[in-house]
Amino acid sequence: LVRRMREFGTTVFATMTKLAVDTGSINLGQGFPDTDGPERMLERAAEAVRGGLNQYPPGPGLPELRQAVSDHRKQWYGLAYDPDGEVLVTVGATEAISAAVLALCEPGDEVVLFEPYYDSYAAAVSLAGAVRRPVTLRVDAGRFTFDPAELEAAIGPRTRAILVNSPHNPTGTVFTREELEAVARVCRERDLIAITDEVYEHLTFDGVEHIPLATLPGMRERTVMISSAGKTFSVTGWKTGWVCGPAPLVAAVQAVKQFLTFTSSAPWQTAVAYALREEMEWVARQRAALEAKRDRLVAGLEEAGFGVLRPSGTYFVQTDIRPLGFEDGLDLAGRLPGLAGVVAIPTQVFYDRPSRGRAYVRFAFCKRDEVIDEAAARLRALR
Ligand code: PMP
Ligand code: GLN
Repeated sequence: LVRRMREFGTTVFATMTKLAVDTGSINLGQGFPDTDGPERMLERAAEAVRGGLNQYPPGPGLPELRQAVSDHRKQWYGLAYDPDGEVLVTVGATEAISAAVLALCEPGDEVVLFEPYYDSYAAAVSLAGAVRRPVTLRVDAGRFTFDPAELEAAIGPRTRAILVNSPHNPTGTVFTREELEAVARVCRERDLIAITDEVYEHLTFDGVEHIPLATLPGMRERTVMISSAGKTFSVTGWKTGWVCGPAPLVAAVQAVKQFLTFTSSAPWQTAVAYALREEMEWVARQRAALEAKRDRLVAGLEEAGFGVLRPSGTYFVQTDIRPLGFEDGLDLAGRLPGLAGVVAIPTQVFYDRPSRGRAYVRFAFCKRDEVIDEAAARLRALR
């Protein structure tokens, strides 16, 4: 394995899901729902396969999906993207992120990102030979946030891009307009490209609104906006994502994408195009159901004695383990199957400086109510 990949080892999600399977534990680690997406969307995919949509689709994606993505951006956010040239279909958000970093960062360029960060970001930056500059999110008034002065201090002459994830995995923070404005300001002033990961765009709670960074003044022209169907429609295994942005940036991402995967699987694309047009009411119901699940798991974790940080979005809740007398989340996550028959993710694996996340463990609540209840009952054994 090349040197630049050696620090990464196996992704924490594979490790923890294997641990859950091997120990027969409830898996509140890896974030994937345990129920299916909208019925008609699933039928559409099956019909596509049976109907012969089984050869290479066009490199940028099926026109109907690019059109549906474009319409969705317009309808939800007032953002206009030309389906021909400003929308690119990818193999999930993961490919979009890697292709964007590979396409836009020269070796030695710096990429600013907020830690804790989704694990693929660091590897994508390393693959490009670029250097990551983490800005730490810290807990303030019950949520993870950043200090704008620290963000500004992280920008140097080699900074090329900033990677922004909101709603944020693994913290559950949804950046406020004020926080996004601080990001936008440094992007404009220091001429940075923003790469935004908005895969949880529709999964926000308590009336909190997701604001795409590209909607802020001066940002559309410098933002590569990424999302995917996995979370919105509960099909994380479909690996169908998309990039929207100004044509030159999208062309650059496509130039890389064509040699990573050439194109993205066809049958899912037509089903996702259908869902973006016709299943947004299902998404609204799913969002409400997920909010109730959040409340259910939060109550269970509080009862078990964790210090719970109530998330405003995503599938995840952060817990402070110190009230239970534990200090190291990595240690606790390793012992949790034995102690309680539950698997969770140690938050410190998402940091460049793991000590900053040492006291936290992440639990996923995108599970059936009975699974959440059983996990909560088991976790009460920790008291
Ligand atoms: N970004 C974030 C923040 C995620 O949590 C995930 C995983 N669900 C992804 C990207 C990857 O998305 P996809 O499965 O569409 O590649
Ligand atoms: N995004 C999901 C999580 O954070 C899982 C992604 C993965 O397995 N790579 O749990």
